[in-house]
Amino acid sequence: MTNLGRLGLVVLALLTGCVAQSARKPAFKPIPARVATAPESAQQPALPQPPQPTPAAPVLIEPGHDATWVSFDEWSQQNGFNRPRRISLHPLKCVIETPRGLLSVEAGRDMMQWNGTEVQLGFIPFARNGVLFVHALDVRKNMIPLLLEQAALPRPGRIIVLDPGHGGRNTGARSIHDGVFEKDLTLDIALRLKPLLEARGWKVYLTRTNDVDVPLTARVAFADEKRADLFLSLHLNSAHPSQRESGIETYCLTPAGMPSNLTRGFEDSPVNTYPNNNYDTQNLQYAVRIHRALVQLGVSRDRGVRRARFLGVLRGQNRPAVLVEAGYLSNPDEARRLADPAFRQTLAEAIASALE
Ligand SMILES: [Zn+2]
Repeated sequence: MTNLGRLGLVVLALLTGCVAQSARKPAFKPIPARVATAPESAQQPALPQPPQPTPAAPVLIEPGHDATWVSFDEWSQQNGFNRPRRISLHPLKCVIETPRGLLSVEAGRDMMQWNGTEVQLGFIPFARNGVLFVHALDVRKNMIPLLLEQAALPRPGRIIVLDPGHGGRNTGARSIHDGVFEKDLTLDIALRLKPLLEARGWKVYLTRTNDVDVPLTARVAFADEKRADLFLSLHLNSAHPSQRESGIETYCLTPAGMPSNLTRGFEDSPVNTYPNNNYDTQNLQYAVRIHRALVQLGVSRDRGVRRARFLGVLRGQNRPAVLVEAGYLSNPDEARRLADPAFRQTLAEAIASALE
């Protein structure tokens, strides 16, 4: 079989997997059959090919080997959107208008923007002959979920587990402003968030309600025991001793086949899958909603919705799961804001508003 033939099969299998995963029938047509190889600099020598998976099986793409690129123009037009508008030519940046919002992608940049919110891509798009190419996995795992219906939210008796990060001897980061620990602030925010979510019809449980360290596996087991529909872990960031970094980051589990944006030195094998990968679509939908609400407060930099695979509190979850890093305790401005109870209340209200 030719390499192109194989690529075609991979694209077909990707599409089939996507359709099978969605509860609603998406209004999307197949990812275009026309594919391009990676730029010369990214091309790898041909490797022995594993047996082709059946169409229903998940397809795992090792970055750099079976990389499959899709014309952003063609994909957009085949889905009934207009040809992407060129916002800039050098670097090539295109935006497509969809019924649910604006999606913009730039060659050489590892973030796309969805209605103004930064969402990290697994693979950096590139331009060739004036055409912008995006990776098929980014189309499937980062773009289509946002263009679909949002995560099903209103439902009587829906259950959320809030997970205040750290606790006990596991203090987390320390505020440069007043020396307060992350563990105390995350608990405070969770306790503020609980009644706000209850007022919106959620049943709310906390993995801890006082200053104890709870192992990550116990936090996941707690969510299983409560039959949670959603798991939200609350953290605050630190780049100590640097004071420069600031802003909001929101994490969900890296889809199979994609590299993570954050690894912290842990193994990050794109061939690994975890229970929580069954919720890739909803993970991203919830992450973007929560992230956008926090960024729209207008006081923090948008560091993007990002992907990590090592976070034990996410990957073992049998439900959508999101982890928020709601500011840097190592940044003097953010640490000062986070020391203010009124600001922590504002953060809690923003998160609650994302989960109406
Ligand atoms: Zn933390």
